[in-house]
Amino acid sequence: GEISVKESLENTLKEYALEEVVQVVETGCMGACDLGPIMVIYPEGIFYQKLNSENVKKIVEEHLLKGRVVKEFLYTGPTGEVKEKPQEELPFFKKQIKIATRNLGVVDPLSIEEYIARDGYFALTKVIKDMSPDKVIEELKKSGLRGRGGAGFPTGLKWEFAKKAEGDVKYVICNADEGDPGAFMDRAILEGDPHTVVEAMTIAAYTVGANKGFIYVRAEYPLAIERFSRALETAREYGFLGENILGTDFSFDIEIRIGAGAFVCGEETALINSIEGQRGIPRVKPPYPAQKGLWGKPTLINNVETYANIPPIILHGGDWFAQFGVEGSRGTKVFALAGKVNNTGLVEVPMGITLRELINEIGGGVPNGKKLKAVQTGGPSGGCVPEKYIDTPITYDTLKELGTIIGSGGMIVMDEDDCMVDVAKFFLEFTVEESCGQCTPCRDGTKRMLEILERITEGEGTEEDLEKLKELGEHIMKTSLCGLGQTAPQPVLSTMRYFWDEYEAHVKEKR
Ligand code: SF4
Repeated sequence: GEISVKESLENTLKEYALEEVVQVVETGCMGACDLGPIMVIYPEGIFYQKLNSENVKKIVEEHLLKGRVVKEFLYTGPTGEVKEKPQEELPFFKKQIKIATRNLGVVDPLSIEEYIARDGYFALTKVIKDMSPDKVIEELKKSGLRGRGGAGFPTGLKWEFAKKAEGDVKYVICNADEGDPGAFMDRAILEGDPHTVVEAMTIAAYTVGANKGFIYVRAEYPLAIERFSRALETAREYGFLGENILGTDFSFDIEIRIGAGAFVCGEETALINSIEGQRGIPRVKPPYPAQKGLWGKPTLINNVETYANIPPIILHGGDWFAQFGVEGSRGTKVFALAGKVNNTGLVEVPMGITLRELINEIGGGVPNGKKLKAVQTGGPSGGCVPEKYIDTPITYDTLKELGTIIGSGGMIVMDEDDCMVDVAKFFLEFTVEESCGQCTPCRDGTKRMLEILERITEGEGTEEDLEKLKELGEHIMKTSLCGLGQTAPQPVLSTMRYFWDEYEAHVKEKR
């Protein structure tokens, strides 16, 4: 049968007696999806793309044995020119600042030693040996970090609420129920750097006073589950998790809970219900989980990407983190670039970077000489940004003003051939499918919206339908119980706001 690129590489290294000299490290995702499989040769940092079990032999024979770069397998830009440059200077990587994804593509996710060699568990040690819980919270507040799962709530404040809540039993949860179509940053972090989440959750537990944690992972992520449970085992062996962490009387352990895949379980109260073994439907807030969460106890919930930022913030300080980004939106954000863009994949960029830089420089622009039309951000809870706002810096506030959100970081680029009504329909179909059915506006309202949209796209709609669609959307947003319903009409309303003429054209076609 066929052998893997890695096997072929190792066999060839053996053939030339290089297996002791050259270390092969299998890492997590480096973000550049459409270039894979890839390999970076250190110390030079030369980046080879699109490897297979054949061409990898040539790289051993030429590059590793004779020191000659093999030009034909080097990274080529969208225009096809060869870039014989270290990885950091390639356009895809150049403007990225990697904090949450700092170890992705660098460490072997199965090796705790490699994580430690990259300052892993230093932050936990620092917290336990030298920092009071209040000091940890102070640094988080200084950092300006906000929840990366979608809601953008200030993380320091959330930790403070959980710490101050009365109760001798408290819980820490990691939300890894990533469900937005196209978003996979949480999966990439868990697969590529699971220890960072273990470390951050342990820091969180120490800070708020919890001894028990849960990570809620989608069943669709088997590799993430496998690597995370391996990380838990080794962290226990090394004394970073379990009883008497680092020889102190602080004890904390994490259990993995596997989600059945309902999108709404990503909503924190639904997720709590699900861990309790109840039906995964949202609860009415308040009370918030920080007061009354899992089994009625104070509970801290953050998502994977938020946690991944914690160890660097502790190590380098809140001010260090706050130097990236802009007022109100500090640090970096991981985005999943998809759609009509040359370089698709995961990118981590400082907040405040413009959409133009993200799409044209890092993303390499729109393929086939087509014109950019709009970008959909925030997945099914978000909206679109039309081309005329392409120079907008990406922050929580600017996107909100434009009628969309950063959300979990999905970013779908659309060109002149895409129909905005279809885009809105795609996301609405998703939310209709995923509504838990608990409250009427979301359950029935989104269905009615979809019926109208279908009428419109089939050329059967009327001007009146457009008005109805808008009214219905506004009503659902105001009256739904949880975030899913409260944001479900966004893709429709936002495309109506910017591309009203396209909706009208669909209606008029009929006459
Ligand atoms: Fe369920 Fe939708 Fe109501 Fe949320 S808004 S509780 S998903 S029916």
